[in-house]
Amino acid sequence: MDRPRITGLGNRSLILILIAISFFNCKEKEQQNLKNEPDDLAVVEPEEVHEFGFNLNDYVVKRDTVRNGDTFGDILERNKLGYPKIFNIVQKAKDTFDIARGLQVGKPYTLLCSKDSLQEPKCFIYQPTLEEYVVINFQDSIHAYTSRKPITYIEKTATGVIKTNISEALDEQGLSLRLAYKMADEIYAWTIDFNRLQKGDKFKVIYTDKYIDDSIYAGVYNVKAAYFLHNNEPFYAFQFETDSLKHIKDYFSEDAKNLRRAFLKAPVQFSRISSRYNLRRRIAYYGNKIRPHKGTDFAAPVGTPIMATANGTVTKASYTSGNGNYVKIRHNATYETQYLHMQKRKVKVGQFVKQGDVIGWVGMTGNTAGPHVCYRFWKNGRQVDPLREKLPEAEPISESLKAKFFDFIKPIKKQLDSIPFKEIKEERLEDKNLENNLISQIK
Ligand SMILES: [Zn+2]
Repeated sequence: MDRPRITGLGNRSLILILIAISFFNCKEKEQQNLKNEPDDLAVVEPEEVHEFGFNLNDYVVKRDTVRNGDTFGDILERNKLGYPKIFNIVQKAKDTFDIARGLQVGKPYTLLCSKDSLQEPKCFIYQPTLEEYVVINFQDSIHAYTSRKPITYIEKTATGVIKTNISEALDEQGLSLRLAYKMADEIYAWTIDFNRLQKGDKFKVIYTDKYIDDSIYAGVYNVKAAYFLHNNEPFYAFQFETDSLKHIKDYFSEDAKNLRRAFLKAPVQFSRISSRYNLRRRIAYYGNKIRPHKGTDFAAPVGTPIMATANGTVTKASYTSGNGNYVKIRHNATYETQYLHMQKRKVKVGQFVKQGDVIGWVGMTGNTAGPHVCYRFWKNGRQVDPLREKLPEAEPISESLKAKFFDFIKPIKKQLDSIPFKEIKEERLEDKNLENNLISQIK
């Protein structure tokens, strides 16, 4: 019914749209031209190669890495520059970059040299990291500055079906293991036990990869959203910024529940659970009698930092023959935690600690056979198993933000739901492995 009116608007708006489209196309082209693919109209000209803000065609480019014992002077002298000039350069550049101390063995550098037979160095570019570079330009006057290579983020999606564990499911597709870490330790650490995944559990993830200079893969940058089907139960996770000033982002379920809990999963990083909370534990040493274990033991090397699993006040920091050095923290009216067998304590009674603060170090003081921290968890004065507790939400979304959250996740959820689980065929697998090898070679 509206159709006549639309045609009535007619060609003029069509033309406007076309202009707009071609304008955007130009914009896009300009950006693509960083790589300088010849335009349709371009007359054949030597392809320009830009890097570090220079047209490399204007120079003889020499690339190398800093060798053991190399100084800036050595490098330039090797490349036929005289000492008075080198000294002069060092003096002028030192406010920007301390050349004498700054060069690290193994880091790449590039010399841009004159295109004549002398090939005299005109510019020294040092790359302390993949992104960052220092330019010391001495072709006319001497000036030095630090800059960064352009970074691009590319959004990607991935899916997987668990056969044994998440790492394998990613690895067989040549996907970064960082995704496994992000899902297991950051996003779903409190909702899914990744040591107990079921065969046939599935996941989808929307994430961004980071690239330097459009070509160098610099790893997974961020996970925007994920879906995990565990025991046939779906778990959605959406990253959402709850505080735009402090840039606080957390992962929330589709009904706006924070997936992070007020307590860390473990008081030590990179540990393994050597003994779980078990009221019916039998110990051979005691003639197989029941010796309940009301703590969770995390095995870790002596000296590993022990962290407070939540904010709170230290109520005990002391020593007993059984506990060894230990610390107890009250978090609120409901929860307390305790950490045993420390090599050394780092906090005092009355001290306020924040989640993640180091309160001591793993040891084997007191009654213990090996280095570990025995982590005890009280709820209303009773010791419980923190791994089985439904722990309080970290930071719930404020009521005022909820509507915004639901609007925000709507298209993302739609996108997640429409990603198909892909079948992995053997030949694709080989391709991926090859690609992966190439990427690791670049890295
Ligand atoms: Zn224990």
